[in-house]
Amino acid sequence: MAHLSHVSRRQLLAGATASGLAGIGTPALAKAPMANTQAPSFYRFKLGAFELTVVSDGPLQMGAPQPNIFTDTSKDEMVKTLADNFLPSDAVAMEQNALVVNTGNQLVLIDTGLGAFKMMGNDTGRLVANLKAAGISPGDVDAVLLTHAHGDHCFGLLRADGAREFPNAQVFVTQSDYNFWTDEAKVSHPQIGEFVAATRKHLMPNRDRIAFIVDGQEVVPGIHAIATPGHTVGHVVFMITSQGQTICNAGDIAHHHIISVETPRKEFAYDTDGKLGVASRLRLFDMLSAKRMPLIAYHFPWPGIGYIGKHGDAYRYFPSPMRTVL
Ligand SMILES: [Zn+2]
Repeated sequence: MAHLSHVSRRQLLAGATASGLAGIGTPALAKAPMANTQAPSFYRFKLGAFELTVVSDGPLQMGAPQPNIFTDTSKDEMVKTLADNFLPSDAVAMEQNALVVNTGNQLVLIDTGLGAFKMMGNDTGRLVANLKAAGISPGDVDAVLLTHAHGDHCFGLLRADGAREFPNAQVFVTQSDYNFWTDEAKVSHPQIGEFVAATRKHLMPNRDRIAFIVDGQEVVPGIHAIATPGHTVGHVVFMITSQGQTICNAGDIAHHHIISVETPRKEFAYDTDGKLGVASRLRLFDMLSAKRMPLIAYHFPWPGIGYIGKHGDAYRYFPSPMRTVL
């Protein structure tokens, strides 16, 4: 019977007939329905005594490569770089990897996704559904930490009707970012006016529960902020430490896991101060690579966890293997 070992029990049950095994040649095949949906996007790991869960808000659809999104990079050069790395070169998508840290005493969410704001395609706004799938209730979140005040990191604070998505959370952001992105005088700005208006709508109703982060502050026990300005004036990264282990939540210190890492001196078109953004990136990457410290990057391929290694006068990104058992 060894030759029958590949026949499943279901086929045997369906195909075996009163005439013995004669039916095996034409087994009854069950047609399984297509799922046509992705499994919930959350990924859990341990850091010392902390439990961390990466939760996706869904990808930002950036469209076809555009010239000079990264300085001095033509559309053709960007297409070639993407193709050389076996990445889609006709449409660029960037993930939104929010992070929940359960310290044992507090439940902390770092960055919120776009919420109901459909600025970057219809794939966004999935954070709450994915949180719930991960067994995390928005009402249980004690603190929301924002790396910066761009919409893809803070608009998820409010629902479409203006209600608070995390009603029991204190919100932490730098004062320089809050002031910059809610500045009424910038609403008429030709490039960023639209974003400032939307940020005023989403951040200002939270003012009574916002505390401002300062450089080096231990924002909640085990999580320190480090100023890394450039992408925005008040951009910070968060060092999360438990029992001697540290991971860096790097926010938007780098946007693309190839281009921003292997050519890290290219400025990013959406940086408030591109040159300062480069300086902050090089400084953080030098530290991460020297200490062999892992990072989670908000826009890197899901779930965005890996290492930055030095490579000549630039770097390489080494994604960490995903663990299927905690
Ligand atoms: Zn971002």
